[in-house]
Amino acid sequence: MKRTDRLTRADFNARAHLGRGFVVSERALVGAVPTIAITPVADGRTGAYESNVQDTWRMVQKVYDLITNEVTLPDGTPVRVVVAPEIVYGPRSGAIAQEYYAGQGVSANIWVSRSWAYSDELMSACMGVGSSEWQQAAYGLNQTDRPGAVWLKAFTAAMDEKKRPIFSIYNPDLESETGLLPPYVEERILRFARCAAAAAEMRGKNYLSVGNVSMGIIGSDVRRNLMQQYLGMGTVSFDMVGVRGRIDKGFYDHEELEQAFKFMKKRFKILYGKGKRPYSNDELLRECLAMTLVVRDLMIGNAKLADSSVGKRQGFQADVEWAQGANAIAAGTQGQRQWTDLYPNYDLTESLLCSSFDWNGYRAPMIVATENDSKNAIGMLVALLLTGMPQMFADIRTNWTPASVKKATGKDVKRVAPDGFIDKRNSGAGALDYAVDVFALLRGGKKMSVQEVAASLRKDGKLQQKLMDKACKGTTYMAAILEYFPGDGLSSHYRSPGGIPMTAYRYNAVGELLTCSVIEGQTIDLPKDVADRISAVTNETWPETYWVPRDMSSFEYMSRIGPNHDANSFGLIGADMLTLNAMLRVPVDMHNVPSDQIFRPTLWDRFGGDDFRACQTLGPLYG
Ligand code: MN
Repeated sequence: MKRTDRLTRADFNARAHLGRGFVVSERALVGAVPTIAITPVADGRTGAYESNVQDTWRMVQKVYDLITNEVTLPDGTPVRVVVAPEIVYGPRSGAIAQEYYAGQGVSANIWVSRSWAYSDELMSACMGVGSSEWQQAAYGLNQTDRPGAVWLKAFTAAMDEKKRPIFSIYNPDLESETGLLPPYVEERILRFARCAAAAAEMRGKNYLSVGNVSMGIIGSDVRRNLMQQYLGMGTVSFDMVGVRGRIDKGFYDHEELEQAFKFMKKRFKILYGKGKRPYSNDELLRECLAMTLVVRDLMIGNAKLADSSVGKRQGFQADVEWAQGANAIAAGTQGQRQWTDLYPNYDLTESLLCSSFDWNGYRAPMIVATENDSKNAIGMLVALLLTGMPQMFADIRTNWTPASVKKATGKDVKRVAPDGFIDKRNSGAGALDYAVDVFALLRGGKKMSVQEVAASLRKDGKLQQKLMDKACKGTTYMAAILEYFPGDGLSSHYRSPGGIPMTAYRYNAVGELLTCSVIEGQTIDLPKDVADRISAVTNETWPETYWVPRDMSSFEYMSRIGPNHDANSFGLIGADMLTLNAMLRVPVDMHNVPSDQIFRPTLWDRFGGDDFRACQTLGPLYG
């Protein structure tokens, strides 16, 4: 075989003398676009093959169109879908598919069949080295003359015996092959594809820990092995002294800072503190914005910081290494207390980076967790990847029963919150989108899934403008209470509208085990005077969201959720969270997802549906 790609001494010499620079990537973060394969299989017998070939490819095209049309990453990049070069009907055609997929960077695969096939043998051929990390699903046609179910059951049983989890997709009703896929099949394929893409997107990227443990909060103890083994993610630690150093040395884009400063002044009501404060008003805003630019640059890098001509013009020393960033798909800022005793808190930084917009316009939200609570950041990352929408970090501040409200305010809230509600009020930061009911923004939005809302927003500039206007108008930045934050700060205050479907979630570390809790519910509108009173006795500078879980009291939620923080997503995404956690082998310790929506690999049934035992037997996906 001729080896035309062999490197020569001249190639190495060229590399040895090439200066380094900032290599611009296509997307904000470096990494391959998640790629899902579709593998058609069929009965290989001459005659049987020929009678299946056309309709099998038709099934494949429907699955292909569905995923390529509907599954998108938060930055709008469509998930890649590749298809086997030919129908797999034996070990050799299986190997051809495998070889092709290896070159395409596939990490998930959907087998599609309307006929019998030699399931175990095909699987063996297509399950090469490393593929235990792939996500697998199989879709068999429900028809009488074609034994899609027979193949599907034989195949998933073979996979179960080999402890290779596989999601099984089979329509309850007989399927017509003309027209679209049945809604049930569509929903399951999309759930599988969305979750597999999320798993692939986070893999190989990093969590950036800015600072360390905040005020003894166990969530901010970044567990590097858990990140790596369950999520396939690296962890980068950055001491907060580096943030101070970058600001002092002016190592950020000064033109962008001015643009940001103007944007903040124009778009937001800002209530600065009274009396003697550590900073003048403009100094405080500039300092908070500099922190914001620095944290963003630390996460995703910034080509301008490597450019000496920009540095010269703006007065900083360009540095290629410093400009790189950590390729971080999520981050957390410790803030309290070593930083906030001296300097402004990170509320403005977190609230803006976690939102879907800033002075540069509409963009993919980022994940920056308060108090470096990395276990909350994991949930926020997962939910962002599943929905494409910003996520809301929250302190589980107070459980309010109607009786407590009555006592405190004399008002009866039994109608809006018969089983109580949770005051979700982070200590100053929250994605600004949560000042808005995004489902009410667009016509028919109340009937849409959160992914449909996200898709509409991504393609409609007017809608984006509407969201940004409402979020800015609904938010007031308010000076921090110096008793808590001697270095001052600007907290994002808003009150979330009621009636928003909202899912709360939380990851927990129990020794070397990661678990997840996920509870669907909705926000509520309290009577204004009741909300004002609650705010006044709690902290009126912080963002507030009143939330009720579904089919349980708020007290039960309060009692059973792990720590002091949870995070929250627009939409009802419990079923997606269950599927993704099964993919990562993270058991779910509490959920309220209806049983007919639960979609996990068939292997879970072999453990009697016991999520903990299935996950324990398999171990972490990258363990
Ligand atoms: Mn907190």
